[in-house]
Amino acid sequence: MDNGEINKEYFWGHNRRFNAYSNYFKTHFGGRVQKVSIDAGFTCPNRDGKLGRGGCTYCNNDAFNPSYCLPEKPVSKQIEEGITFHRRRYRRSIGYLAYFQAYTNTYDSVDRLRVLYKEALEVPEVIGLVIGTRPDEVDSEKLDLLQELSESSYVTIEYGVESVYNKTLERINRGHDYQSSINAIEETARRGINCGAHFIFGLPGESRDEMLAYSDYISELPLTSAKFHQLQIVEGTVMAEEYREDPSGFNFFTWEEYQDFFISFLEKLNPAIVVERFTGESSPKLILSPRWGKGRSDGLMLEFEQKMEELDTWQGRSYFAANAATAFSMGVGPQENTSTLASSSADSVASHLSARSVT
Ligand code: SF4
Repeated sequence: MDNGEINKEYFWGHNRRFNAYSNYFKTHFGGRVQKVSIDAGFTCPNRDGKLGRGGCTYCNNDAFNPSYCLPEKPVSKQIEEGITFHRRRYRRSIGYLAYFQAYTNTYDSVDRLRVLYKEALEVPEVIGLVIGTRPDEVDSEKLDLLQELSESSYVTIEYGVESVYNKTLERINRGHDYQSSINAIEETARRGINCGAHFIFGLPGESRDEMLAYSDYISELPLTSAKFHQLQIVEGTVMAEEYREDPSGFNFFTWEEYQDFFISFLEKLNPAIVVERFTGESSPKLILSPRWGKGRSDGLMLEFEQKMEELDTWQGRSYFAANAATAFSMGVGPQENTSTLASSSADSVASHLSARSVT
């Protein structure tokens, strides 16, 4: 790595080698923004009997729900406690996003949803909402509400897509197919609401080549951002039982393999999609397998970015080669080497993203 490269800006407007979420927020809001998780007491249709009772086979919400999230507490109280918690760690945050995270956060009447979302937005430090939900639990009334809120506040709907393959979605008992995800994402983006999606790499029955091909599917979606996790089998899930019965059905990534895989994946991913995270961070005491023996995801990210530097590669590197016409339409042009794109190209991304409904 030479010094010239350190100051290089990619077409998302900074010198990190992928379109990183924290930088996207700094550009969007002018400073660090922190998500504060909420458990508003929702359940989910895959648990309460509407679609099924067992839930998705990998799901244990306790694995990622922070301790201040107790559904007995009002939403505003959870947010206030969350802000106090985060202030100790991230003093520089200029605002907070209320993250309706636990279970299916559009699974109630529109009237009730309005009350909960408005309560969150009334907390003075809250500048927007992130609503985690299933792609089959939005309808035009719920989207009308979120569209209305997005006209005065930042709003993202984050869909659990998990896999692009119906055979996998059936196997993990998601209760919806991939087309439901496409429909929800396209409709959300069409209404001018930011749209995020969540995917898991390493689900049983998928080959590494099939996982790599996620990039082709995801690159086509009008997403603002995406979150990726390696599969972690968590205690208390159906998958944990399956694993105990027959571990040979699982093919986990080692940390080294995952880095190589994710770099290849990122190279094929549309560079306009903001990458929120690339590893999961379930509570270590709940993880059955794989155990990477690593610390927090910030440390993994540093190691990963160092590897990208060593390989001198970046998000979208091969996407551009394979999609010259799309690159043209984004105003980026058919550069032989996208790493040399100037910061002015960030404007092209900004206009592309606004066409993709970033509010
Ligand atoms: S992952 Fe979401 S949809 Fe699936 S069981 Fe858990 S809360 Fe329900």
